[in-house]
Amino acid sequence: MVRLAEHKELTENKAIQNAKLTVKVYIPLVQHFGRPCDKILVKPNDLVKTGQMIATSESGLFSPVHASASGKVSVITDWLHPVLGRAKAVIIESDGRDEKNYNEPAARKEIDAYSAEKIREIIFNAGIVGMGGAGFPTHIKLKPSKPVDTFILNGAECEPYLTTDHRLMVEHANEIIEGAKIVLKVLGIDNCIVAIEDNKPEAVEIFKKHLPAGFKLKILKTYYPQGGEKQLIKEILNKEVPSGGLPFDIGVVVQNVATVFAIYEAVDKNKPLYERVVSVTGSCIENPGNFLVRIGTTVRDLIQECGGFKKEPAKVVFGGPMMGIAQFSLDVPVIKTTSGIVFFSKEELVVREDRVCCRCARCIDVCPARIMPAIITMAAEKERWDIAKDYDALDCIECGLCSYICPAKRDLVHLIKYAKSRIKK
Ligand code: SF4
Ligand code: SF4
Repeated sequence: MVRLAEHKELTENKAIQNAKLTVKVYIPLVQHFGRPCDKILVKPNDLVKTGQMIATSESGLFSPVHASASGKVSVITDWLHPVLGRAKAVIIESDGRDEKNYNEPAARKEIDAYSAEKIREIIFNAGIVGMGGAGFPTHIKLKPSKPVDTFILNGAECEPYLTTDHRLMVEHANEIIEGAKIVLKVLGIDNCIVAIEDNKPEAVEIFKKHLPAGFKLKILKTYYPQGGEKQLIKEILNKEVPSGGLPFDIGVVVQNVATVFAIYEAVDKNKPLYERVVSVTGSCIENPGNFLVRIGTTVRDLIQECGGFKKEPAKVVFGGPMMGIAQFSLDVPVIKTTSGIVFFSKEELVVREDRVCCRCARCIDVCPARIMPAIITMAAEKERWDIAKDYDALDCIECGLCSYICPAKRDLVHLIKYAKSRIKK
């Protein structure tokens, strides 16, 4: 693992602000790991309310999606998607009234009596997915097929620039802890470890004050990619998730703080996941900040929220600079997994040149998955997917460290991602 320049000072002390409701929201029918929602519950000209479920599926791995504004469905069509390029989306014209579809929460006594199954059903109906980036449907993750004994609440947020988890921990520690208690109840365990990196002293102090009995706080040294599930488990428990395996194979469930906050809001407030906190940051933005943003809001609308550009960006990335995805249009919408949008100037860009590997082995030294990026990428260049597979390309967590460290400026992570997609075919 490596210590990176953090650039978090741009937004780490900026309190979460509500972004304005926009005239239109563009809500993709796939915002999760799995298949797109294929049962669309609305049609053009239908009136919808904020939080109303607008698409779901009958089967498979998926998570329903909800309207993020009240108003009229204008069209259902292919639209830009920050991960997939394009995907089917429901476009809603807001009426500006923001009328909610969901009712007041149940009485405290009733909520406290919910069974694990009832809570999972609420989490499913609220459309909650892993908000740290993976987008895995949370109701599935909270039904592990093997016994678990440890829940790790992931507040590491190791990507440079991003500060959404940090601000949530500073401003909503109690709610996150209540969400963690709900997760423990669903898993039927009582062991929660809260993991926070030492570059977030304010969050650490707040959690120290609020931590209930039975919860442990683990303060981690700041390294990248500490926030990856497997790296976090290794660091905290000194246990390794087997190659091709998942944390529950060794009795662990990990959820990031934004997801746990969404679980709290679904169970205690009856609120579906139709908005999230997003860091809008980078040297090109006039007023970088952390914004509570409706799902489906476009980058173009968010830029207005931040006072526009102070210089022309050369690159826009969804997520952080290490694992994020570059965008080609400002009309792409925020989805459930969008933790940040970073705008880079021309001077900040690293030009990848695909030069020949000088066999320095630095990529191998830094790789947290302990695989050999140099060999895998050479195999990929020769389209030898069999060799790439034998060298465990599928264990790559796409952290980007190998590309970052490579003195030949080879675009290693790009090649490995491609190799993974070919192996899976
Ligand atoms: S091979 Fe994958 S896991 Fe290893 S450093 Fe490169 S991107 Fe990260
Ligand atoms: S860091 Fe770059 S140059 Fe060095 S071994 Fe890896 S791929 Fe080759």
